[in-house]
Amino acid sequence: MTASTTIAREFANSKMLMQFSLSFIVTSVICGLFVIIVLYCLTLKKFKSKSEVSKVWHNVTVNGRPSRKIRKQRSVRHKKKMASSAITQAMKTCKSEPITENEQPTKSASSTKALKRHSPEECKDVFNNPSNKKQSPKKSKVIRETKDFNHPVYKSISSQNGEINRMTHQQLISTLKQFNLDSSGYPDILKKRLKLYYMESSLGKAGLDSHQTAQSFDYLCVIDFEATCERQNPADYLHEIIEFPIVLVNTKTRLVEDTLMLFCKPLLNPKLSEFCTSLTNITQVQVDYADTFPVVLETVNRWMKHKELGSKYKFAIVTDGPWDMNLFLRVQCKLSKLKFPSYAKNWINLSKTFSSFYKTSRVKLELMLRNLGMEFEGQPHRGIDDAKNIARIAVKLMEDGCNLVINDALT
Ligand code: AMP
Ligand code: MG
Repeated sequence: MTASTTIAREFANSKMLMQFSLSFIVTSVICGLFVIIVLYCLTLKKFKSKSEVSKVWHNVTVNGRPSRKIRKQRSVRHKKKMASSAITQAMKTCKSEPITENEQPTKSASSTKALKRHSPEECKDVFNNPSNKKQSPKKSKVIRETKDFNHPVYKSISSQNGEINRMTHQQLISTLKQFNLDSSGYPDILKKRLKLYYMESSLGKAGLDSHQTAQSFDYLCVIDFEATCERQNPADYLHEIIEFPIVLVNTKTRLVEDTLMLFCKPLLNPKLSEFCTSLTNITQVQVDYADTFPVVLETVNRWMKHKELGSKYKFAIVTDGPWDMNLFLRVQCKLSKLKFPSYAKNWINLSKTFSSFYKTSRVKLELMLRNLGMEFEGQPHRGIDDAKNIARIAVKLMEDGCNLVINDALT
């Protein structure tokens, strides 16, 4: 009886001891985790207040990395912050109403709005500063000093712009003809052309330099890839580049100085679909006898080096949308296990530039041409012909006073 009581007591004691040790271990683990997270936050030096630490607690996933949702929220918050700072900056630098006509495309719609009342230089400045790093006081002072928007000429330009806005298509054509200007194209484009002409001449007469025609780049490399495709491309379809064309435009002479056109042999889908052949006009024989993409890219790089692009001359890639770089080149580099070329990470998306400059909706290549009163020349969906036609639009934009700047990047 005594022995069994002792055993029962010892058993109870050991059970209590086990429960105590278990709760001690659990509490230590929780405390340890908490301390690790707090230390993690403190070492990042991002968060100072207790409430912010609690935000991090919520945002961190098990592996210590912010969840996808949180990263997306942060990116949206960052974009909003950038746009609102661009607006604030624009409001600070803006002195008076006019100079509405030569804004450059920006990273976000809201910052575009913010730039609407700015001179090209100011727009360029905010755009060229996408990270929204604060400009040095010296630089912003220069902008304010060199532009006196209180000059009466700006008032006259502004009222003239109003009159041009009220003109009919026919009036626009006859006025442009009076000044020996190109009168082809849709009314929005003609308005823009006339306003720029009037602004240039008014500023010139007033002894002010408008710098309308200054270009940021010496050369434009217009690229338009063609790739393997099916009539209905499946969602996971991997396009391989089959044509790599470049049209080299000199921004000073506004002439096409050279062209390069190379076919590429696809490896994943070596046999072109009937749809692809009829869409692009590229034949099976042409790709069969072509080099593979790594060799083609090497040839392109040598050609660029020979042209002193990126060394002696500043150049930018021009495409008619985001897909050439963001889809075709990205996928092809992955397939070919090549590093994405650094010069192709940012480019001029001409469709964006076009709609922002002429205040039209985003349209495809053929419609951009038609808006400008031009017709597509050559075979649509043949890379070299597409690139030549994109180059024609780029030239027209430059002639109309648009400074072509980088407005798209790899996402
Ligand atoms: P693009 O520059 O418009 O000629 O198009 C470039 C590439 O996109 C083509 O070479 C095709 O691979 C693909 N593509 C264009 N249009 C179509 C279409 N309607 N259907 C399937 N793929 C297309
Ligand atoms: Mg094309």
